[in-house]
Order: sequence, then structure tokens, then C-alpha cells
Amino acid sequence: MKKFLNEFKEFAMKGNMIDMSIGVVIGAAFGKIVTGLTDCIITPLIALIIGGLFHVETTDQLFGALTVGPFPIGQLISTIIDFLITAIVLFIIVKGINELQSLGHHEAEEEAAPTTKICPYCKSEIAIDAVKCPHCTSDVE
Ligand SMILES: [Zn+2]
Repeated sequence: MKKFLNEFKEFAMKGNMIDMSIGVVIGAAFGKIVTGLTDCIITPLIALIIGGLFHVETTDQLFGALTVGPFPIGQLISTIIDFLITAIVLFIIVKGINELQSLGHHEAEEEAAPTTKICPYCKSEIAIDAVKCPHCTSDVE
């Protein structure tokens, strides 16, 4: 039990817990935004396409009452639409973050200009602007 507690403490202190908590909070808030987006834009659009011009405000209103036999598949459709939009938006965000990170890496690599060169005579590492090798005293460019 003590080992378990220590492991948990280590896990929590490493910041994984904090990252996860932030992720959960942002995720929950983000879910609301997506639901809002779906209800305000996507659902009316679908309603317009499918049903002409009948007035609905949420996917639940559009699909909620839809049942096939005993199965309330309307709610399932509504949930799937919410999920798909969330997944697409999250994918775009994650993709963007990855590209930003790889961009940063690329710049960091380019910034690291070489500060040394190899003497062509003795193959020792010497300063990039050296005109005489300190190892074999040869004249270098
Ligand atoms: Zn040399």
C-alpha cells in the first residue's frame, strides 16, 4: 500500500495529473462550445436540408423523437453528430499544435550554426574562424 501511495505521489508530482486535470476541464468547456456550434449552425442546416423549413433548435429536437421500434436512434444520431464535430475540431487543433512544434524544432536546428571545423591536415576539431591549426600548425582557410 505504501508503494502504491509513493507511485501515486510520483505520478501526481510529475505534472501528468495537472496536465490531465487541465485537459478534462478544457475538454468539458470545449464540449459545450461544440454542442453550441452544433445546435446553432449544424442542426438548423441539417433541418433545412432534410425537412425544408421546420423550426428546430437542437439535434435532440431534430432527431430526439426519432425511434425505430423500441430503439430511440434519434438520440444516437444526435450524439454521433456531436462526436464527429468534436473529433474533427480536436484533430485540426492537435494537427496545428504538432505543426507549430515541428516548426519550432526546425528553427532551433537552423539557429545552431557550426562553431568548429575539422583541420584538413590533422583532422583535429578547430575553431571555425581559425587560420592556423593549433594542433599541427598548418595554415587553414
Ligand atoms: Zn591541424
